[in-house]
Amino acid sequence: MQINIAHLYPDLLNIYGDKGNVTAFIKRCTWRNIDVKVHEIGINDKINPELYDFYFIGGGQDQQQIAVSHELQKQKTPLHEAMDSGAVFLAICGGYQLFGHYYRPHDGEELKGISLLDAYTIAGNTRYIGNVTVLSDLPLNNTNTLTGFENHSGLTYLEGETKPIGSVIIGNGNNGKDKSEGAYKKNVFGTYLHGSLLPKNPHFTDYLIKLSLERNYGQVNLAEINDEFEWLAHNRAVKRKY
Ligand code: GLN
Repeated sequence: MQINIAHLYPDLLNIYGDKGNVTAFIKRCTWRNIDVKVHEIGINDKINPELYDFYFIGGGQDQQQIAVSHELQKQKTPLHEAMDSGAVFLAICGGYQLFGHYYRPHDGEELKGISLLDAYTIAGNTRYIGNVTVLSDLPLNNTNTLTGFENHSGLTYLEGETKPIGSVIIGNGNNGKDKSEGAYKKNVFGTYLHGSLLPKNPHFTDYLIKLSLERNYGQVNLAEINDEFEWLAHNRAVKRKY
């Protein structure tokens, strides 16, 4: 079986090592002999929605988000076609904000999003920085906790059929008010969790791999792999108090 990954704008949105999410995704595929190829998508590259099963976009400062926001407007149609075809997306922080309707930073222009998620973001007066533990509602194996690190001033609010990936028990999450963290709609997942997220959350990585395979192969069951160290890291991180 094969998975084709589109890594969106890695030279602009890769803050806090978010590229580690792609590395973890690839590793957990190759350890199962799943053939996986990564295609880096840069500014002015055309996206053919038929080619990719999994899309990743990382986080970044407001400056980089401006460039990517303008570029994403040109890619709105193929990315919506990809979403409607069952492709899987993972968007982290700054990339997550641009997958909503808009991100309104403190200064400068309001950045248009591409509305893959029914969400909007407005810069707040506090920068939320610290560890986050989430109780997820997603159908994950082993446990429903997700753990990561947040660093954002944007406050994200969900609407319509978009649901949070879970509720925060440590940290602030989407906006520090309604206890929600992240968002998903169809197979599009957004979150504020840096870390990077996937290496310490093998169950979420496997969930994304499973969804990415099912787009082309129907129902699949992933082979068990030895991920003792990933779970040691997850369980240690989940116990952090702030
Ligand atoms: N610039 C955005 C904010 O501060 C996103 C930051 C990030 O990607 N970590 O909210």
